[in-house]
Amino acid sequence: MARITLNGVGKVYPGGTRAVGGVDLDVADGEFVVLVGPSGCGKSTLLRMIAGLETITEGTVSIGDRVVNDIEPAGRDIAMVFQNYALYPHMSVRQNLAYGLKNRRTPAAEIARRVDEAARMLELAPYLDRKPRQLSGGQRQRVAMGRAIVREPAAFLFDEPLSNLDAKLRGVMRWEIKTLQRRLATTAIYVTHDQVEAMTLGDRLVVLNGGRVEQIGTPLEVYRRP
Ligand code: ADP
Ligand code: ADP
Repeated sequence: MARITLNGVGKVYPGGTRAVGGVDLDVADGEFVVLVGPSGCGKSTLLRMIAGLETITEGTVSIGDRVVNDIEPAGRDIAMVFQNYALYPHMSVRQNLAYGLKNRRTPAAEIARRVDEAARMLELAPYLDRKPRQLSGGQRQRVAMGRAIVREPAAFLFDEPLSNLDAKLRGVMRWEIKTLQRRLATTAIYVTHDQVEAMTLGDRLVVLNGGRVEQIGTPLEVYRRP
């Protein structure tokens, strides 16, 4: 786990659009922070800058005590979970879970240990030999979580991971994500436009508007408007 610090972080896209401006944020070790706000307020751009999927045009992002502006995504010690799962359709669940570790030349015995542990935590053990198309939506989302967990990253970054699921499953998965994050004590930054998700998941919420921080506080502080 690691602290994540943003200092004056901004983004101007090549066309000239200012998506994010002057964001200061300090996410503590093991904290769960949710980025909320209306569509187009810059949530996704901010998350992608932390992940390294978008260049940072102003300010600095630090993960642990390292400024990561010039470090590629794979070197940032973070794992990202997307709404479209990003699973490999031709690979089994086991292979999907192991893939990122194989790429990083993790020893085979260590890969097997981490895959088995993640499968146990996520109740995926009976499905390790299936292909993604043979799984339910919730199981696929668990595999996506599993791919993040096996990396044992310093932080999880979630980009609206539940928005493709129906309301009932969203509720279940929300609970599972929160439970896992607490158990692993891994720092998490989570983007959503769903107020219920924000309130139930976040230790603190960051409300963005027009690319700037409008409010930061606990769910109670943010939603208890006078
Ligand atoms: P959110 O995730 O809150 O919906 P985004 O970060 O996707 O917001 O977008 C913030 C702003 O940046 C919007 O005005 C959007 O149109 C703009 N934007 C997003 N991606 C790009 C891009 N690749 N090129 C130019 N402008 C973009
Ligand atoms: P790794 O296991 O190293 O993350 P992946 O093949 O899953 O390898 O991803 C390679 C890069 O592409 C990573 O930086 C990841 O964050 C990014 N990536 C993976 N899936 C998506 C997606 N659905 N949308 C955007 N970026 C993605």
